Amino acid sequence: MRGEQELPVNSCDRCSAPAVYRRRYSGESLCKRHFCESIEKKVRKELRRFLSWDSFVGLAVSGGKDSAVMAYIMAKIGRQFPSMRLAGLIVDEGIEGYRDKSVVVAERLLNGLGIPYEVFRYDAEFGTRVDRIVHLSGHTNQSCTYCGVLRRRAIDILAERLATEMVLTAHNVDDIAQTILMNLFQGNVKHLTSQIVLPDSVKREKPLRGLLEKEVVMYAVLNEIEFYSNPCPYTRFALRNDIRNFLTSMEEKHSGITYSILRTAEKIEKSELRVTGRCHRCGRPASAELCKACEILEYGRELLLRSQVQAPGGADPWSRRR
Ligand code: SF4
Repeated sequence: MRGEQELPVNSCDRCSAPAVYRRRYSGESLCKRHFCESIEKKVRKELRRFLSWDSFVGLAVSGGKDSAVMAYIMAKIGRQFPSMRLAGLIVDEGIEGYRDKSVVVAERLLNGLGIPYEVFRYDAEFGTRVDRIVHLSGHTNQSCTYCGVLRRRAIDILAERLATEMVLTAHNVDDIAQTILMNLFQGNVKHLTSQIVLPDSVKREKPLRGLLEKEVVMYAVLNEIEFYSNPCPYTRFALRNDIRNFLTSMEEKHSGITYSILRTAEKIEKSELRVTGRCHRCGRPASAELCKACEILEYGRELLLRSQVQAPGGADPWSRRR
């Protein structure tokens, strides 16, 4: 019977057109036009909290569904506010057979939307890539940490280069609820109870935080927005993956629970935790001698050196493998 509830009812609650989506947590049935309008309205409402319509905005775009939808809606809004400038920030972390393909999709999307962009490649800028660090360390279950910490740094660098006033990332409510649960399961109390303030770091916002993942997919499909849908090869090793599956089944049974997790976290009174130290290597805010990004890059260099000492001829085994 649950499957039947998922099917759209005959007509839209706001007009007589056929419904394409039933919003389970509100009980609303919507046709294509009213569904798309409701999504754009939610994004605009979020944007109004922090954006002035003459800002220079960086969009973190990976080519996946969320960032593709964000870029599409921002381009639409940008046409109404010509004094707002947009720039795409694309990061190629170096994940063979995955990110190289999604970057091509991201570039095609941004070209089609008329949004200029810049690509940051770990290989060229950091001298290493996620594949190599994971292969040499053998720590497959740490791949998302290597990838994510360095991606955050890469986006900061791109935003600084282009001098954007802020960066928009495309996290939806499912992503945010997953992060909250991950912090809870890992006992990461600091991130639950404190607002970590990093001086000088680029302001970040999440305009899709009011949307469910399935709504983002539906919007992309209805608007024929191209996106890259193959999963990252490291996804299956990530704790986030298990939490995603858990949350999806909870949302199926208890519609609206994903929003409840977000609201609960918002209710936790957060103190401000200002990071005052500086990384000895890059000079960015850090709570230890080295910031996390420099720590990972240092680790990657050590692994490479060690492998060159061990490998006959000094070759990097990862390069030989390709
Ligand atoms: Fe990076 Fe992990 Fe996402 Fe893959 S799943 S892109 S390794 S954060």
